[in-house]
Amino acid sequence: MYSFFESVERSFDKAALLTNWEKGILAQIKACNSIYSMRFPVKMDDGRIEVIEAYRVQHSQHKTPCKGGIRFSSEVNQDEVMALASLMTYKCAIVNVPFGGAKGGIKINPRNYSAYELEKITRRYTSELVKKNFIGPGIDVPAPDYGTGEREMSWILDTYQSLKPGEIDSAGCVTGKPISQGGVHGRKEATGLGVFFGVREVCNMPNVMQKIGLTTGIKGKNVIVQGLGNVGYHCAKYFRENGAIVIAIAEYEGAVYNEKGINEEELFKHRKATGSVLNFPDASNIQVSTEALELECDILIPAALENVIDGNNAPRIKAKIIGEAANGPLTPEADAIFAERGVMVIPDMYLNAGGVTVSYFEWLKNLSHVRYGRLEKRFTENMNHHILSEIEELTGKKASDKAHKLIEHGADEIDLVYSGLEETMISATQEIMDIWLSNPSIPDMRTAAYVCAINKVGVAYKELGIFP
Ligand code: NAD
Repeated sequence: MYSFFESVERSFDKAALLTNWEKGILAQIKACNSIYSMRFPVKMDDGRIEVIEAYRVQHSQHKTPCKGGIRFSSEVNQDEVMALASLMTYKCAIVNVPFGGAKGGIKINPRNYSAYELEKITRRYTSELVKKNFIGPGIDVPAPDYGTGEREMSWILDTYQSLKPGEIDSAGCVTGKPISQGGVHGRKEATGLGVFFGVREVCNMPNVMQKIGLTTGIKGKNVIVQGLGNVGYHCAKYFRENGAIVIAIAEYEGAVYNEKGINEEELFKHRKATGSVLNFPDASNIQVSTEALELECDILIPAALENVIDGNNAPRIKAKIIGEAANGPLTPEADAIFAERGVMVIPDMYLNAGGVTVSYFEWLKNLSHVRYGRLEKRFTENMNHHILSEIEELTGKKASDKAHKLIEHGADEIDLVYSGLEETMISATQEIMDIWLSNPSIPDMRTAAYVCAINKVGVAYKELGIFP
């Protein structure tokens, strides 16, 4: 049995054999550069003192700052944080986000603590990071992960700023902040939207689609989504809005099916009102949730948990494309079965990189001290208005109000964030696909993604002159 970090190393080694990098460079790319394991005392509401176990791992500084979430979970341990930090390095490299990988963890179950206790733990953790130079807009930039969100990021920012007064770029010391604290629009839906862009790009490749026996394009494709949380909800929304038919949505209490399509927004409201996705109007119930994954469909999007498709159920999955929105939804046994059967697995390592990509945009916004679109929006609108008026005058025809609105619109922050995310996911998909299709020894897209990451980090190290 391998530890999480050892399994990441094994996947890395498998892909490394398909590259031309020398052993020493590969060893450096793979190694975790800095590991900060800490223990600190926090006084709880009842007067008790508890010693908190926490970590921050910077896997790679081939690009700085390092970037990665902070999770609050009772499962946190050093090996897990090391594995997640290395995956961040590879993920950022693939989507051309110029950061090294990092990850943080505090070994607590946040449900067992009051908001005041969580605030004290988060602030103390941040001041430990400051003391050891493990945080800063040019050093290491945390973000939310399991058990943390905007609230914790605000505490981190405030603690950092009070310890580093006058640091002009301090808002860039953490991402995933509320908008009022320097956050960026579009962060919430970023991962789901990124998954959609990535899968759509694969579906737009005629040669790939022909190989798996599907027509080109997203329109009309039958999609099954597992998980109606943040990522699953937004995946379902973007697939539906772009002409796919979301025939089933699975939650842990069961699944619902309608061959004509399910509206995720209505289902979300129904679940909120009744406590379950079951008994949704016009849909049939599937009591055993996992059975929904085995229905006939074109695209399956697991967006809930890890290890949900393994050696047991993989042979019964009928999807031709599996888009890994969740982290690690397939076991290595399932991977092998799908490779053998020619099922296309689009790997989590880059497919769910929408969150970190938009975090990068937030960091850029913080360093530039200006909201996206502020400078050019009105200029573009005025210019487009002039152009349209000129055309109307020359042709003697009037465009509709709808056309006026569409053509004249200048980009807001959200438009630019979506556009940047779309560009990022399309280029990353194409890069990985080029690597895969140009080397017959690469067995699957996951290995191709690793090869892509290794090549990019290798080049960066070479350019730094570390290996003359
Ligand atoms: P979330 O907690 O918002 O949603 C998860 C959903 O899955 C919940 O609605 C939950 O009820 C459901 N679920 C739990 N067990 C289930 C089961 N057995 N069958 C069906 N549904 C089940 O979490 P999220 O942010 O949407 O994250 C989902 C996955 O995506 C995780 O693996 C996470 O690591 C990954 N991910 C998330 C982000 C992000 O930006 N949120 C980024 C990268 C990766």
